[in-house]
Amino acid sequence: MEMYDVIILGSGPAGLTAAIYTTRASLKTLVIAGEKWGGQLQLTTDVENFPGFPEGIQGPDLMSNMRKQAEHHGAEFVDENFSSGNFSKSPFTVQAGEKSYEGKSIIIATGADTKWLGVPGEKEKIGRGVSSCAPCDAAFFKEKNVIVVGGGDSAMEEALVLTRFAKHVTIIYRGDTLRASEIMQKRAFENEKISFVFNTEIAEVKGEMKVEKVTLKTNCTDGSIIVKPGEHMGTTTVDKIGGTEIKKEDNNLLWEMPIDGIFVAIGHIPNSKVFPGIDVDEKGFIIVHEHTRTNKEGVFVAGDVHDRQYMQAVTAAGFGCAAALEAERWLEVQK
Ligand code: NDP
Repeated sequence: MEMYDVIILGSGPAGLTAAIYTTRASLKTLVIAGEKWGGQLQLTTDVENFPGFPEGIQGPDLMSNMRKQAEHHGAEFVDENFSSGNFSKSPFTVQAGEKSYEGKSIIIATGADTKWLGVPGEKEKIGRGVSSCAPCDAAFFKEKNVIVVGGGDSAMEEALVLTRFAKHVTIIYRGDTLRASEIMQKRAFENEKISFVFNTEIAEVKGEMKVEKVTLKTNCTDGSIIVKPGEHMGTTTVDKIGGTEIKKEDNNLLWEMPIDGIFVAIGHIPNSKVFPGIDVDEKGFIIVHEHTRTNKEGVFVAGDVHDRQYMQAVTAAGFGCAAALEAERWLEVQK
C-alpha cells in the first residue's frame, strides 16, 4: 500500500483548501473525494459571497476551480465514497471503493447536509425558491414575501438577514416555545418586517416552475397561531401577514399562504457517523479539542462536520487551511 503524508476525507471547500495547502507544503496528499465530489456547493447556482469573484460564480465552477488548483499542486483524487477506516494510531488505514489507502495523518472534511423538511414539492424547488442559506440567497428576494422554517438561532438569524432584502418574512415554527436564544428572539420580535406563525408546519410546497404558495398545517384549533411584529408570544389572530390576505377558516387545520421563497433552517446533519473512535457532540458534530485537532493524535477536522456556528463556504475553506497547517506541524514533530 502506498503511504500518504495526508489523507483528506471530503472534497468541499474545506477538503480542497486543505489539499491546496498540504500539497504546496510538499506533503504527499490523497483526497477521498466521494462519488458526488464537491459538497453542497455543487448543488447551488450563484455564489456571490465568496471573496475574489466580483460578479459572483456558479457553485460547481468554484468547486471545479478549487479541485484543479489542488490537482495542479499534486493532490491525488479518488472519486469513491469513504467506507471505513482504522483511526486508532498513525499510520491510519482508509477504505474507499475496493481499495485501501494508508496515511500518516488524516483531515476529516466530510461536511454536513442540510436537514430538509421532506414534504411534497420541496425537493424539486431547491434553487427555485427553496433555500437553506439566507446569506447566500437573500439578495434574490428583494421586495418579496418569504418564509423561514424553524425555531432555533439559525431561523432567527436567517429571518434577520432576509429583512434587509425581503418585503416581509414569516417565521413558521412547529412549536409554541422558540428554541432560539433570548437575544435572537428579541431581535426577531422587535423587527417590524417579521411575523411569527406558531404551532404550524409546512405540509406542501406548491408552484409551477418556482415556489408560489405553501399549504400550512396548524396543530391547534383555537386560532392562536399568529404573533404580529413586536408582540411577544401572544394569541392574536390576524388576517394578514405582511400585507397578504390569509384565508384560514377557524378550526381548519390546513390553509394556504402565497409566498415567493422558503428558507429551511431546521438544522444540519454532520457527516460524522463513519469515523470510529472520533468524539462527536450530542448532534454528531466532531468535537475540536484544540486548533482543528480531534481526540485522536494525527486526525484533524475542518469545515461543517465540526462547525455548527457559521457553515459558510469561506469559513469552511478557512478551517481547511488551518487543519492543513496543523497537520503539517504535527507531521514535522513526528519526524
Ligand atoms: P436547532 O437544532 O437549535 O433548531 C432547529 C429548529 O428546527 C428547532 O426549532 C426545531 O423545532 C426545528 N425543526 C427541526 N426539525 C424540524 C422539522 N422536521 N420540521 C419543522 N421544524 C423542525 O438548530 P439551529 O441550526 O437553529 O442551531 C444550531 C446551533 O447553532 C445552536 O446551538 C445555535 O445556538 C447555534 N447558532 C447560533 C447562532 C448565533 O448565535 N448567531 C446562529 C445560528 C446557529 P423544535 O424546537 O420543535 O425541536
